[in-house]
Amino acid sequence: MEQDLLIYNTLSKKKEVFKPITPGYAGMYVCGPTVYGHAHLGHSRPAITFDVVFRYLQHIGYKVRYVRNITDVGHLVADADEGEDKIAKKAKTDMLEPMEVVQTYTNSYHRNMDQLNVLHPSIEPTASGHIIEQIELVRKLLEKGYAYENNGSVYFDVEKYAQNYDYGKLSGRKIEDLIVNTRELEGQDEKRSSLDFALWKKAQPEHIMRWPSPWSNGFPGWHTECIAMGTKYLGERFDIHGGGMDLLFPHHEAEIAQSCASLGHESVNYWMHNNMITINGQKMGKSLGNFITLDEFFSGAHPLVEKAYSPMTIRFFILQAHYRSTLDFSNEALQAAEKGLDRLLKAVEAIEKIKPTGESTVDVALLEEKCYAAMNDDFNTPIVIANLFDGVRMINSLNDGKEKIDAEGLGKLMNIYQVFVFDILGLKAEEAETGKNDVLKNIVDLLLNLRIEAKVKKDWATADKIRNELIALGFEIKDKKDGFEWELKS
Ligand code: ZN
Repeated sequence: MEQDLLIYNTLSKKKEVFKPITPGYAGMYVCGPTVYGHAHLGHSRPAITFDVVFRYLQHIGYKVRYVRNITDVGHLVADADEGEDKIAKKAKTDMLEPMEVVQTYTNSYHRNMDQLNVLHPSIEPTASGHIIEQIELVRKLLEKGYAYENNGSVYFDVEKYAQNYDYGKLSGRKIEDLIVNTRELEGQDEKRSSLDFALWKKAQPEHIMRWPSPWSNGFPGWHTECIAMGTKYLGERFDIHGGGMDLLFPHHEAEIAQSCASLGHESVNYWMHNNMITINGQKMGKSLGNFITLDEFFSGAHPLVEKAYSPMTIRFFILQAHYRSTLDFSNEALQAAEKGLDRLLKAVEAIEKIKPTGESTVDVALLEEKCYAAMNDDFNTPIVIANLFDGVRMINSLNDGKEKIDAEGLGKLMNIYQVFVFDILGLKAEEAETGKNDVLKNIVDLLLNLRIEAKVKKDWATADKIRNELIALGFEIKDKKDGFEWELKS
């Protein structure tokens, strides 16, 4: 690529030119879901954001190793260090083995991601499959003096760490403020300071998910899995670490602390965070009743969802905002996205009808340049989409004969839409019930072909009857020099 790819680094708080550790290769780790329920709208944004990063890095020639984990142990309710494991809790209510809960919702997550046309990561490790790596990391942290054991549990010593490193540099928090804010809570548990976080927890007798360790039969803390698995598969230093902004603190801050404390340096070069989704201006939350699952969006089966929205409508809607902006879901906005996507995909089809001429009056190279410039500017998908819509006007003018294009330009135009709409943005044409729609299409085509035959035989009565009956059924029919075009108006 002639242009540099700029990535906004949450750590430096500025856009930086992407320079991979190994030329031609890119390593990316993204925090995946904790699988104790069906994926909801909040899961779709990081998945789609980093899917586009994955697709674009590959498109511009990188060999990408994309690791996205599944959290299946250690993530406690309220994201705290005390209390029940989210998965064990669900297992108890549903009377299932915890790993049955994990399998059920991992399958469900995969199904939703396929619907959203999110590519599979290169590696999808689970926390429970990497207990040994996590124990190893905890051992190193104890050895280096940045962790302590108390009653079978091991905690990270944040205040000790802060003497040598900058704790809070990612999230912009100041250790002094954090200490003041948490002092009064102390003395309630095994931690020296409530800022400390669990690396290993001794399992209470009722806790079912447990593994042997040098300290106790227990389980790893939530913040340990990602850095253990990231460094295992991508190396002690790797290029990109991503996730939702809600993970900045303490999850990602804790990851930086663990790599600096265990390795003496950071592991991640570029930290990327997608912003949050609100629904009708409100934060999503179980207590607010707006925790809408993706299945509920796809089927329309939720009181806040007026109608079914297809997976591609959700995907397109998410890509219409830059990943670092907040995004508010409403029925009006989704219906606008649905129409916009339809207009874009129809224009892509209409490119095939353009007839090339000997000369060009349109600048296709400029359109392509603008699309790449937008992607290279921190994956600015809304600008890419705006440029593609400018191109839609061009396509319509070419089909109306108001503008001209030569064969080479036409080939390039087709390629731009193929690359940006399908390969990079990852959109696809979707038909709600493909089978049924195919039959309908064949029947209408059959009738309109019979009408052409009738006209050839000058059987005007039959020709008009077919036409009028179809119009009465809600079809719009256009006669063309070389055939016909039709649409079912809903
Ligand atoms: Zn994580």
